[in-house]
Amino acid sequence: MIYPFSTPNQVTKYEVIDEVPKRAMVIFAHPDDAEIGAGATAALWAAQGCEITYVQCTTGSSGSNDTEMTSERIVSIRAAEQRAAADAIGVGDIVVLDHPDGELEADRVFLGEVVHALRKYRPEVVFTHDQYRMSGFQHRDHRHVGITVQDAIYPYARDHLHFPEQLVDGVEPYKVKHLMFWGTDQADVIVDVSNSVDTKITALSKHESQIAGLSFGSDMDRRLRGRHIEAAKGYGFEYGDTFRRLTART
Ligand SMILES: [Zn+2]
Repeated sequence: MIYPFSTPNQVTKYEVIDEVPKRAMVIFAHPDDAEIGAGATAALWAAQGCEITYVQCTTGSSGSNDTEMTSERIVSIRAAEQRAAADAIGVGDIVVLDHPDGELEADRVFLGEVVHALRKYRPEVVFTHDQYRMSGFQHRDHRHVGITVQDAIYPYARDHLHFPEQLVDGVEPYKVKHLMFWGTDQADVIVDVSNSVDTKITALSKHESQIAGLSFGSDMDRRLRGRHIEAAKGYGFEYGDTFRRLTART
């Protein structure tokens, strides 16, 4: 896939983001989505002291082509792989929501779980799937995560009359500043990730049950780097991470 995409609303000039927030959160459907979507930026920011939290919305229970594999076994394999990948990136907590892979609904239960995570961890920036991507097929779980995260940020986490039962033990309403969508065909911001692409590749290689044969210099490594190189053309750095950004009004 080549960035930037050719779409009617294509942004030809990205805004370069170089500010590092104190806290960020990556909310994703399945183990490995976080590293694919925002791994390079998360690694860059973690190395500069940003506290990164992951919210993994499904257990990843369907992620195997091996007919001998059971859901129970793949869940524990992927949990260990996700922790190892998160350690490589520099992530602190991983909140795992207990939804079966492929059965995630954009319903009130899931919305409440995301709202609670936002109110508890108070990230300034949140990364997630772009539910509105028009090019190519997209996993249903990804769309449901994207729309739920956007709704959770505004208005549900912000307004105290939504999910008021959560407001105990120091949990308060919270307003996220920026929502950054990956896998988008309408990117409008870019981050210079020249110093963290290697870390992204290393982290992704921990997902051995999903991504076999990823090592520096492999075909997959070149493909992954190629996207970041393409994005950065004309910006004066080697590797770029692009996102569609929504910013809350102050
Ligand atoms: Zn996924």
